[in-house]
Amino acid sequence: MFKKILIANRGEIALRVIRTAREMGIKTVVVYSTADEKSLPVLLADESVCVGPPASNQSYLNIPNILSAALMTGAEAIHPGYGFMAENPEFARMCREHGIIFIGPTPENMDDLGSKANGRAVATAAKVPVVPGTGLLETVEDALAAAKQIGYPVLLKASAGGGGRGQKVIQTQDELAKGFAQAQEEAKLYFGDPALIMEKFLTEFRHVEVQVMGDGKGKVIHVGERDCSIQRRNQKLIEEAPSTLPESLRQEILAAGVRLASSIGYTGAGTLEFILDRDGNYYFMEMNTRIQVEHCVSEMISNLDLVRMQIEIAAGEGLKIDQDDVVLSGHAIECRINAEDPDKDFRPSAGKIDEVHFAGGPGVRVDTHTYSGYSIPPNYDSLIGKLIVWHEDRDKAIARMKRALEESVIQGPKTTIPLYIKIMDNPFYKRGAVMTNFLKTRMETVEK
Ligand code: ADP
Ligand code: ADP
Ligand code: MG
Repeated sequence: MFKKILIANRGEIALRVIRTAREMGIKTVVVYSTADEKSLPVLLADESVCVGPPASNQSYLNIPNILSAALMTGAEAIHPGYGFMAENPEFARMCREHGIIFIGPTPENMDDLGSKANGRAVATAAKVPVVPGTGLLETVEDALAAAKQIGYPVLLKASAGGGGRGQKVIQTQDELAKGFAQAQEEAKLYFGDPALIMEKFLTEFRHVEVQVMGDGKGKVIHVGERDCSIQRRNQKLIEEAPSTLPESLRQEILAAGVRLASSIGYTGAGTLEFILDRDGNYYFMEMNTRIQVEHCVSEMISNLDLVRMQIEIAAGEGLKIDQDDVVLSGHAIECRINAEDPDKDFRPSAGKIDEVHFAGGPGVRVDTHTYSGYSIPPNYDSLIGKLIVWHEDRDKAIARMKRALEESVIQGPKTTIPLYIKIMDNPFYKRGAVMTNFLKTRMETVEK
């Protein structure tokens, strides 16, 4: 096992990795930008190295500085967390070249799924359904012919796109004829690659994703699925495990996730995202080749430590359990506590937290890097903590989440807590009638 690892991330996920490393007797080095000098991960890690100024591209994305920090401190491996370097095959390759282990999938795994065109091809080869759509589109004529077949509205996606960017909804033939070249130009500008694909544009769907762990030698297990349909601007706010899908559909999606990940000999933790329509059709959307923000709900229902498993696999110890050892029980819900004003279109609300007191008690887990007096830097995303609850069934978990939200006090910035309290009382949410348009369509309606 490693003696020392470096964490190339910040905030709650840096702290999450430190906690497991400590329990495993592994020393930690955390890198930080000058904006995070007083953050909890920096205070709690065994060592810390400043890698640059607040701007991410000069600090958390600064490959030479991060690699130097690892070499200088004698860290044997790097945990990238999520975001920043987590899905960058070039970074994983450079770690390899410098004799440092990247705690995550191989760069080849990332290449297989990196572009949307590749991801669709890999899924199709593994007999996993994808949204009706195309491979790479060369010309506007190809695009027009494809759209005619798929039916409008369609979605043009930059094959190299990510983070919800590089997507364009096209309503009509006319719009496509006019917009295709521009979409190519934009894709080239933002992602360095003009390649586009097209998909049917779906308007009402659930987001359900499968957590997998692979040993890189062909063995892949799943740790259940998560429903992440409550979103704003294509970003998740509340996640739960298990989903409320009918059992046969659940099993089908879990099997599809494992099949796809095994087909590429996947190594480490990964998540396969699916969208589901009202009619029970499911489609693979993309694989996130890293630990995810919402991994905690899977941990709560499985009693597994997914970060520990990532570290063990990276250290060559393989997967210590089989599928049959994964026993899921109860129901877990996570609310992402963001420093944002939900009444003002989720406008970020950075600044000093005067007082913070998170809930406790039975079945409550809090992952946060904040403390009373902590200042939220404006440079990064607005996630300041995650409130996670477990209970034996979904109704009880909802009641427990409401209790925990009401108990939590954050003085200073606006947060998403008041919105979540309303959602826990929402009749549609309570019976699991939730698609990604929930906030737009189901918050005001009063159910008879
Ligand atoms: P990215 O790599 O940018 O995350 P994804 O393909 O994962 O791109 O899509 C991001 C989000 O965009 C999805 O979570 C979903 O909300 C929406 N989306 C993706 N594909 C479609 C589609 N075919 N129709 C409607 N919405 C879609
Ligand atoms: P209806 O019966 O009128 O279609 P319900 O609210 O009973 O509507 O939902 C039926 C199913 O549709 C639910 O089980 C749920 O999965 C799904 N659903 C969830 N959110 C929405 C939404 N915003 N609009 C429509 N259907 C939804
Ligand atoms: Mg995505």
